[in-house]
Amino acid sequence: MIITQDVGLQEQLKKTFGFSSFRGNQEQIINNILKGKNTFVLMPTGAGKSLCYQLPAVMCEGTAIVISPLIALMKNQVDQLNAFGIRAEFLNSTLNKTDSKRVKDGVLSEEVKLLYVAPESLTKEDNIAFLSEAKISFAAIDEAHCISEWGHDFRPEYRRIKSIMEQLGNIPIIALTATATPKVQMDIQKNLNMEEADVFKSSFNRTNLFYEIRPKVDVNKQLIKIINDFKGQSGVIYCLSRKKVEEIAEFLKVNGVNAAPYHAGLESATRMKNQDDFLSEDVDVIVATIAFGMGIDKPDVRFVIHYDTPKSLEGYYQETGRAGRDGLEGKCVMFYTLDDIIKLEKFNKDKPVTERENAKHLLEEMSSYAESSVCRRKQLLHYFGEEYDDSKCKDSGMCDNCAHPKEIFEGQSFIQKVIDTAIKTEERFGIKHIVDVVRGIESQYVKSYDHSKLDVFGTGNDESEVFWRSVVRQTLLNEFLEKDIVNIGVLKVTKKGHDFLKSPFEVMLSKDHDYNVENLEDAGHLSQNKAYDKELFNMLKDLRKKVAKQKNLPPYVIFQDPSLEEMATAYPTTKDDLAQINGVGMGKVSKFGKPFIDLITKYVEENELETASNVVIKSAVNKSKIKIFLIQKIDAKMDLEEIADLKAISFDQVLEEIEHIIYSGTKLNLDYYIDSFIDEDRQDDIMDYFLTAETDDIDEAMDELEVDGYTEEEVRLMRIKFMSEYAN
Ligand code: ADP
Ligand code: MG
Ligand code: ZN
Repeated sequence: MIITQDVGLQEQLKKTFGFSSFRGNQEQIINNILKGKNTFVLMPTGAGKSLCYQLPAVMCEGTAIVISPLIALMKNQVDQLNAFGIRAEFLNSTLNKTDSKRVKDGVLSEEVKLLYVAPESLTKEDNIAFLSEAKISFAAIDEAHCISEWGHDFRPEYRRIKSIMEQLGNIPIIALTATATPKVQMDIQKNLNMEEADVFKSSFNRTNLFYEIRPKVDVNKQLIKIINDFKGQSGVIYCLSRKKVEEIAEFLKVNGVNAAPYHAGLESATRMKNQDDFLSEDVDVIVATIAFGMGIDKPDVRFVIHYDTPKSLEGYYQETGRAGRDGLEGKCVMFYTLDDIIKLEKFNKDKPVTERENAKHLLEEMSSYAESSVCRRKQLLHYFGEEYDDSKCKDSGMCDNCAHPKEIFEGQSFIQKVIDTAIKTEERFGIKHIVDVVRGIESQYVKSYDHSKLDVFGTGNDESEVFWRSVVRQTLLNEFLEKDIVNIGVLKVTKKGHDFLKSPFEVMLSKDHDYNVENLEDAGHLSQNKAYDKELFNMLKDLRKKVAKQKNLPPYVIFQDPSLEEMATAYPTTKDDLAQINGVGMGKVSKFGKPFIDLITKYVEENELETASNVVIKSAVNKSKIKIFLIQKIDAKMDLEEIADLKAISFDQVLEEIEHIIYSGTKLNLDYYIDSFIDEDRQDDIMDYFLTAETDDIDEAMDELEVDGYTEEEVRLMRIKFMSEYAN
């Protein structure tokens, strides 16, 4: 490889990209490439992998090929490089003939320093012919985990890269990825024929991220609470389906969160707009499928929530990795339920065998991670082949399991039993078989291998399957066992494991979570939804009476009892919080709110309560289509009968819907309709009744008013007018 370098590497970095220093081992990596050696880079998302091939590409004679899976990201990268004054181009199916010729000419004249190629374009005959003519400095294979079917993002086209490379002669390769388990790592090297490559692996530890798993109950309430803790800050919520994305985005909007949806089913203009709004902070929260986030570099994402349990730890780690790129704390919350895992397993039913097996394996890893009470960070890093001393996480409390440790127990004898069983079954089996043997289960395999004859057989039968699985997993985490890299699922005994058997010592193990019985209270996530605060409720009632007197209105017009109960549960101390209470709209807040907020604030201070106002949620149903339709038509002064006809519902149902709208705090002006069929005197009569009545109950009103010949419809209409004018 010929290098056209006239200055030192550091200076070259400054000159080309304006950065003053390298990050992590970028410099060593670049030096290795410049020596023409095959290089394998494992670095977490956001750490700066691109620069590892971009800088040497600029420094070498000829063109570097960059293989990258996403056409959309290619354009983005090329634009960025061009902005730095570097000639970069891409070659993919979106180019027309003229553009394609321009690109190829640029490469042949060696002006193009980086050529981005989609793997499917790389395998086209004429492209191969063209590339063999060109002077190629080296090939960078980004997102290299796509080559492995054991990863989470297998792309069959990646498998063909190797043979193309061979056709192009002996060019150095740099493979880069942010997610590779040891198995995937081996797969990549094998498939690219670069087993001898120099491997540069950075720590994947993201010290500023807080990991937390919560049981998937009352999720919407929890969502609102988390988001309110980060008011005005950026966050991403991942859902598995487009439908869920839409639903949650809508739910958040109804609850006053500045949220937008993002998924591949949206029109591309909408999708782009929502993404831009998020980047420019016109939108705080993006609700998305995993289609969102690749290549998005927003530094100040403060939280990432997995609404549904993700399909793999790789995906989960990538997605959580989008939080806190600026180095400040990021909160990562996953909602977990075994139901989600079962649902995902069902989706895999129709896949080819290996793919299905692999997907199943990934899901198993996912649920062990979620259910384990071992440090999350230790588990995640172990999964990616990195040893981590969890005392650091314990000190800082940066994961839920370290912050709220579960019960621990001395596990030496259990671990001995597990290792012993692995050895006696000749290290040819996985977790299920080891647990079966220890527990004395006569499974198919136990029978065919005669393992019931082993002395360990059945020696652990007084503990449950869940217990033993957890022990095996912790034996793995402690590195007494390791996963075999060739035969997926098979557990081997490490040197450390053999040493342990020779001279065992105390090892503390922790009991798994059981999310079926654990509630939010246990983990300290939410104050339990206890009955309302009777004392405050009574104070609020007294206040209501006083305010009603002052305003010369019946108390129920101010706030209804259910609203007071909710206030005595949620303690709203701001106008916004108060408006979140069911039956309270902004109209009511500004008319009657102040003394109530004052009272609650004082009460909260005196009793040193934690306000839970942010856990009160309005359901999206409040603004159903029919209600929006009604509000619009009433604004346009349409006859109520006509509305009933248009929607094919009864007049009575129309009244019911309108009553709902009024009682949730929205004003509606029905004068145009009421005036047309109840004369003024009669209207005043009914109004007077409601102004002095004890309650707004229709039956009671009818008892009083029927004698004067009023119909129920008239009374209900007048009640609507009355509530709308006085209460909202
Ligand atoms: P990755 O591909 O590893 O996820 P990128 O290559 O997209 O990460 O880089 C992430 C961000 O870090 C980019 O904005 C990039 O400009 C920046 N970056 C990379 N290296 C450096 C450096 N040495 N100094 C400052 N910023 C850097
Ligand atoms: Mg990258
Ligand atoms: Zn931890």
